[in-house]
Amino acid sequence: REYTPKVIDINYTEGFGDKKWSSANFPWTKDLEAKNRSKFGNRSFRPNQREIINATMSGYDVFVLMPTGGGKSLTYQLPALISEGLTLVVCPLVSLIQDQIMHLSQANIPATYLSASMEWSEQQEILRDLMSCRYKLLYVTPEKIAKSDSLSRLLNSLYSQGNLSRIVIDEAHCVSQWGHDFRPDYKNLGVLKGNFSKTPVLALTATATARVKEDVVQALGLANCIVFRQSFNRPNLRYFLRAKTKKCLEDIDNFIRTNHFKECGIIYCLSRMDCEKVAEKLRECGHRVSHYHGSMDPVDRTRIQQQWSKDKINIICATVAFGMGINKPDVRFVIHHSLPKSIEGYHQECGRAGRDGQPSSCLLYYQYSDYIRVRHMLTQGVAEQTVAPRGAYEQALKTHKENLLSMVSYCENDVDCRRLLQLIHFGERFDPSLCAKTCDNCLKELRWVEKDVTNIARQLVELVTMTGQLHSSSHILEVYRGSLNQNVKKLRHDTLALHGAGKHLAKGDASRILHYLVTEGILIEDVKKSNNIYGSISSVLKADHLKACDLRSGKCSIVLKFPALDTASKMGKLDASLLPQINKTVHQQSDVDEKLASLLYDALFSLR
Ligand code: ADP
Ligand code: MG
Ligand code: ZN
Repeated sequence: REYTPKVIDINYTEGFGDKKWSSANFPWTKDLEAKNRSKFGNRSFRPNQREIINATMSGYDVFVLMPTGGGKSLTYQLPALISEGLTLVVCPLVSLIQDQIMHLSQANIPATYLSASMEWSEQQEILRDLMSCRYKLLYVTPEKIAKSDSLSRLLNSLYSQGNLSRIVIDEAHCVSQWGHDFRPDYKNLGVLKGNFSKTPVLALTATATARVKEDVVQALGLANCIVFRQSFNRPNLRYFLRAKTKKCLEDIDNFIRTNHFKECGIIYCLSRMDCEKVAEKLRECGHRVSHYHGSMDPVDRTRIQQQWSKDKINIICATVAFGMGINKPDVRFVIHHSLPKSIEGYHQECGRAGRDGQPSSCLLYYQYSDYIRVRHMLTQGVAEQTVAPRGAYEQALKTHKENLLSMVSYCENDVDCRRLLQLIHFGERFDPSLCAKTCDNCLKELRWVEKDVTNIARQLVELVTMTGQLHSSSHILEVYRGSLNQNVKKLRHDTLALHGAGKHLAKGDASRILHYLVTEGILIEDVKKSNNIYGSISSVLKADHLKACDLRSGKCSIVLKFPALDTASKMGKLDASLLPQINKTVHQQSDVDEKLASLLYDALFSLR
């Protein structure tokens, strides 16, 4: 298999294994059910909400892993309402906090927040009101915890009076630098458990690999916490990956028109310029669409988000800045116009679709060259953001690069169930038959065979080193497949023994093997800004010396899955509804030919 992170078993008490948390005989049960109805207007609990609430109400530290839209907020808002004293909620973004407070005040639940941007006098007034227990919930950003003495004093005195009823860490994955959204100020939240050891802590996140979870539990000091972990599978979401070609925008228009016309969706784009370009093109196609990104005026951003929330516009083309805390239940599609930065990020962004449980689509456009672009942006971004010591910078960058590479191997995998690939990443086992053909790979009904491609891999690595580790992946592929174009001739690659060694391979197969070598770290893309006037990004392939040696010496071998012999006939039998999709994916005639050539090659290969 191309993509196999370790499944790490969890050592903590698994809350869901314990039936006692489902009981409806806790002292607070009546009050709980009544307030769920009267204050929040809910007819019942969503899966696992009751269990989590019972555990935290019983005074345990609790760690909740539940997918986006699962209803995590209720698991602390209801306890806050039925407990004496104040609940402190740490939340990463002021916009998220404001959104929550708006909802709470609509339900007549006294909640407030403290932020650095408030007037001093206003902060003083809020602190006074907090002291006299006028509020049930106080939201703060982690910076506030680190910096505000008056807040510390307040918390200390509430605690000593027994009036600090619960501490909630929302979006707890921000604690971990292995997560996709690390925030340095979250790192110090361990002081809370240290100072207020008797107050139960409730940590919530929609995204955590086993590694992130370990990190969070450590950093927050939740040694004996109960872990509630809900499956991250979202059965109502369909996952599709398509090759990104020049016709990507037409394809998006088509896709929306055919499947989700006039429905609500998000299109994630890499850059601000992309957001604007994609929005403009779709507007020309007759969609009601706006763009949204970080460098827009905050007033405009709020306006656009509201228009979208109220269905005045259907589609938002946004950078990942858009979405955290978005509560719209009827988002019918999330499209990624370019490569997401990590599988966790991707899962979370997709998770904004279909919160109401209705079928929704997640469509991802992939081309390998986007990897180079995203990597470049990551390098820039980390450099700009990090003021930390050198070591921390390098560590952060390394993590980002690893996360991105996992995403690339997810995209390069055209065989395994998309759900399986995502869930493995969260340390969750998944039986792909449960996918029921709701992802592109399962839909293909491919039968595959495993082939040992170690030799081809060796030749590719050899070619990279022989040509001085100076060339891009596409150049290496050209040489390997025996191209005679000017570039190759000029550099006299055509005189090399390995020139044309991969002639018999379809371009798709050769590049897949090369990309695999990159995702395994045997080859490394070294991103460079080229010297030309456009300052465009170029990239050269290098070899990792140790790994390349292992490959050469036979210590490591490479086996990949390829479509099996009877795939050709399977292609003929595909049901008609699938055909437009396939035509859409394979745009260029040359691509079609290559697919056929590859199938023929496979047929021959297997006959021999
Ligand atoms: P999360 O934080 O897990 O992503 P939220 O707490 O934002 O999810 O909840 C998502 C949506 O589900 C909200 O619109 C919320 O009102 C709704 N919701 C939560 N619990 C229930 C429930 N028991 N019944 C109906 N709707 C609920
Ligand atoms: Mg939430
Ligand atoms: Zn599947």
